Amino acid sequence: MEIQSLDLKPVVQPLVAWYKMNKRDLPWRHDPTPYRVWVSEIMLQQTRVDPVIPYYLRFMERLPDVYALADCPEDELMKLWEGLGYYSRARNLQKAACRIVEAGSFPKDFEGWKALPGIGEYTAGAICSIALGLPTPAVDGNVLRVLSRVSGSFSDIMLPAVKKDFATALRRVYPPNQTSDFTQALMELGAIVCLPNGAPLCARCPLRALCTAEREGLIDRIPVKAEKKKRRIDKKTVLILRCGNKIALSRRPETGLLANLWEFPSLPGFVTEKELAERIQGLLGITRLESSTHLFTHIEWQMIGYELHLSCAPPGYEWVTIEEALFQKAIPSALRCYSNHLKNLRYEE
Ligand code: SF4
Repeated sequence: MEIQSLDLKPVVQPLVAWYKMNKRDLPWRHDPTPYRVWVSEIMLQQTRVDPVIPYYLRFMERLPDVYALADCPEDELMKLWEGLGYYSRARNLQKAACRIVEAGSFPKDFEGWKALPGIGEYTAGAICSIALGLPTPAVDGNVLRVLSRVSGSFSDIMLPAVKKDFATALRRVYPPNQTSDFTQALMELGAIVCLPNGAPLCARCPLRALCTAEREGLIDRIPVKAEKKKRRIDKKTVLILRCGNKIALSRRPETGLLANLWEFPSLPGFVTEKELAERIQGLLGITRLESSTHLFTHIEWQMIGYELHLSCAPPGYEWVTIEEALFQKAIPSALRCYSNHLKNLRYEE
């Protein structure tokens, strides 16, 4: 059967009733205003719920409304986001906040939200259904897994057309006064029952009686997901350059990966201690640090590191104290291994 003509009406009430009884107590579910839902949805993109919670609480305390967000200095915003990754999300949040302040109010419909920076179909659908009571589906990987299994669909969920077709089928059955519960119920079932990794907890699932994959033993084969392209591997040598009580940082370029964040100087490839000793002037001492790996969506950073003591501070870097680096500069979590080394140095001093 074509996905878009699926009849999903039978899933609605069991799912909503289950959600009301079983939903997790998450901070953005209290007082779901457009601002609070929007910020939570942006933080939750590519990031699991548990690590988001403390960031969300801190963010809301410091930036409780769209005006505070629009006014926040960029360095402070990056510091609030430090460790969450995908920093363009924070920049787009602020750009969108400025537009909302300029317009004088939040958008009232799906198209209005989707026109804002950093907001795609999924996020616009989530905000409008959760905060505005509109029948706008929010179809992500969790929802696609649940719906593919329930309907027994072997269509590749990585294809945009498949996502669109499931959204069309959902739109027809949105319960008018329960749009928020229905959207969140689908997300919640995919997150805590029809699990992304490992066996689904079918015995606890409100859709079990309706589920084709469970009935026909197809759980291992559905959803169908085409393999992603392999990540590009970038090898680098990270340097913690120290001179007196200062360390060197540099700014990343204004566009691209981790744009505008602070980082430790680095050299491409894996450089040996001997090569460093030959290349770096005024070297007083060198210590090898831990190796580390960080996965981005399309790139994998493989890193080795050194701490180097120098007799003079070479130009071209921002020389800061360890305290300043840790508490005032947003350093991406990709470099956490080396930021943690700074924390240890601070305790030693
Ligand atoms: S019955 Fe099992 S496979 Fe089907 S939707 Fe529920 S948890 Fe997923």
